[in-house]
Amino acid sequence: MKVLLLGGTGEARTLAELLTAEGIAVVSSLAGRTTDARLPVGEVRTGGFGGAEGLADWLRDHPVDAVIDATHPFAATMTAHAAAASRETGLPLLVLRRPGWTPGPHDNWHWADSPSAAANLLPTFGSRAFLTIGRQGLDAFATTGLCTLARCVDAPEPRPTWCTLILARGPFAVDDELALLREHRIDVVVTKDSGGPATSAKLDAARQLHLPVVVIRRPPLPEGLETVESVDQALQWAVRASH
Ligand code: NAP
Repeated sequence: MKVLLLGGTGEARTLAELLTAEGIAVVSSLAGRTTDARLPVGEVRTGGFGGAEGLADWLRDHPVDAVIDATHPFAATMTAHAAAASRETGLPLLVLRRPGWTPGPHDNWHWADSPSAAANLLPTFGSRAFLTIGRQGLDAFATTGLCTLARCVDAPEPRPTWCTLILARGPFAVDDELALLREHRIDVVVTKDSGGPATSAKLDAARQLHLPVVVIRRPPLPEGLETVESVDQALQWAVRASH
């Protein structure tokens, strides 16, 4: 049994380790856009496949029995390609998606369908925004005219001149997030609904400071995909498939 594990997340790295420990061979696939990426254990391939057709060809050319898509919840193109390639080759596909975040009673969240919809909301909340949406989608905020702090793992190319950029990789601690929000006198936080504990401290900090948070909704999953929410469930799926 060998699994193609579409990765780029902490869950994918953990799953690669657990599958390997179960004696299930794994080839992890990374998009290759993050410099100094944290690598999973085992075999790793890097770079795009060349669309859904390219992925289907890759699956035919390699001795792989199943595909697990453990990419980020916003990596919608990769997931659509995995679904199409699985249909085309007949290989089973499982999607591992961590649950999204849900607001508590003391949160002041505002949902947006896209980065540009989020950008349109911002002026109602103040003049100083903290963008924690990564590199993709940042451009939508370039013309808001707000004083903007943006945090990414790697700098966008070209480097934006309309915002102050902080380069940092989670996990982040609540005290550090509080200090950052205070230091930059932030009025509103913008996030994707990435889910998971590694980057949720900003939400705790925003709640403590009574700040509004604009949350960008996840893209919908393609219809009919078998989906689990935890690494353990994905491991059980692969173990069952290997028998
Ligand atoms: P995307 O928009 O869905 O994918 C764009 C293209 O990148 C895909 O069509 C594919 O190229 C290539 N690609 C994406 N993931 C790949 C993988 N695991 N292995 C090989 N090729 C991959 O994805 P994205 O939003 O750019 O995310 C890229 C990677 O970063 C993903 O692995 C994702 O898990 C990770 N990530 C994304 C976010 C985010 O907010 N989007 C945040 C954290 C981490 P081809 O069409 O040429 O095959």
